[in-house]
Amino acid sequence: MLELEKINTHYGSIQSLWDINLNIRKAEIVTILGSNGAGKSTLLNTISGIIRPTSGTITFEGNRIDTVMPHQIIELGLAQIPEGGRPFLDMSVQENLEMGAYPARAWRSQKDTLKEIYELFPRLKERAGQMARTLSGGEKQMLAIGRGLMSKPVFCMFDEPSYGLAPIIVSEVFQIIKKLRERGITIMLIEQNVKRALEIADRAYVLENGRITLQGPCQELMQSDHIRQAFLGI
Ligand code: ATP
Repeated sequence: MLELEKINTHYGSIQSLWDINLNIRKAEIVTILGSNGAGKSTLLNTISGIIRPTSGTITFEGNRIDTVMPHQIIELGLAQIPEGGRPFLDMSVQENLEMGAYPARAWRSQKDTLKEIYELFPRLKERAGQMARTLSGGEKQMLAIGRGLMSKPVFCMFDEPSYGLAPIIVSEVFQIIKKLRERGITIMLIEQNVKRALEIADRAYVLENGRITLQGPCQELMQSDHIRQAFLGI
């Protein structure tokens, strides 16, 4: 569904991604592991078109997207759920959700999608009229997921969805991610919580200093000494 071939990305003269080859199949959950500064956000922003790669190709459902504008990439069904949710703080929960339906592919069916999202997140329904500014961290994260889903994505990229959340809320967020996959949505997950990420994902890529150093099924990677020492602390 998504394929990156020999992607290199620079910030000015500094290279942040080196020859990245990566592929994600339909309805997979793939996690990207890496310590601070490894290049995870750069990778995500390169896929969503916010940063342009300096060389290499990115193909999404057969379309080259590495030269396409970010809003056009969203139209193809690729959604990015930002870290911390980043809602429009002075808008209500419902207004924030409605803002997510701006792609043409989502506009007409937005009433039905909103209903589905309220079923998935009853807490957002209870707080439909509340200003986003006053939501808890967990609720903001749920709002971000809901807003992303309003664009009717087929592929969702999550940037640190559990960051700063209490363990019980983290479990809820991970349950939602599982549900989305059951509905056929493909997931790319960037997570600091390596243990949880390896438990939920099918496959993982390990990014170190802008390079992929390890990849494979999560069950296998959990046994890797490098992963256990560097990421799991065991
Ligand atoms: P973290 O987990 O800390 O968010 P990350 O894996 O997401 O880290 P990136 O934010 O992608 O890492 O950063 C990768 C490298 O690119 C780092 O060395 C960082 O300093 C550099 N970098 C990121 N953004 C910029 C920028 N706007 N200008 C210059 N260098 C940048």
